[in-house]
Amino acid sequence: MDIEAKDLSKIYGSGISRVVALDKVNLKITSGDFISIMGPSGSGKSTLLHLLSGLDGPTSGSLTYDGKDIYSFNDKELSAFRRRRIGFIFQQFNLLPVLSAKENIIMPLLLDRKQPDEAYLTQLTDLLGIRGRLAHLPHELSGGQQQRVAIARALIAKPDIIFADEPTGNLDSKSGGEVMEMLQNIWKKMGKTIAVITHDRHIAEMADRQFTIVDGILSEVTVV
Ligand code: ADP
Repeated sequence: MDIEAKDLSKIYGSGISRVVALDKVNLKITSGDFISIMGPSGSGKSTLLHLLSGLDGPTSGSLTYDGKDIYSFNDKELSAFRRRRIGFIFQQFNLLPVLSAKENIIMPLLLDRKQPDEAYLTQLTDLLGIRGRLAHLPHELSGGQQQRVAIARALIAKPDIIFADEPTGNLDSKSGGEVMEMLQNIWKKMGKTIAVITHDRHIAEMADRQFTIVDGILSEVTVV
């Protein structure tokens, strides 16, 4: 799936409280890319992620997935599109505390009235090293394991792209490194497209294409 943002801008407020959170961002993500977007706090990272994933609309500009303008979808079409085609990983894991790891992983399918593909679930949980932990509740797991459960949940509906918002922000550096290795494995072995937002240079450098964002202006870093 190819994603193309053209002159994407987001302006909050007006008058003296006007903030240009994103300033004419142009970005092409090709199927199989692993991109990182690095920038300091307040630079526009979350805004860009929300716009790229259709959680929010721009002030101006366009965003297409395989040539289709997703901002032209109605609410129902957009939420179905997001549920089926896009996976999310959050800094805070966002697991439901009363559900087991397995129940958390398959929840997106149940919301879509679909049954899990058990062979795929086994493949995924093996790859993520959490197959022996599926009956555990989130609080019985380490932070790194919880994030791996969240990665499995993001992948269960077989989306085309995974957006990860500071996926290692709540983890110590060892667990954070392991989570990034898992994302690299998923990229290499499953051929998924991955976009990671981070303020950590080491994390950003693990991606295949690197971008920086400063004051809402996105630039690609040329890796030599
Ligand atoms: P980052 O994720 O890099 O920390 P954000 O995308 O959250 O940055 O924010 C970019 C800029 O837009 C910041 O100046 C922030 O204060 C502003 N901003 C973000 N969301 C809103 C909002 N809902 N209303 C007003 N300003 C906002």
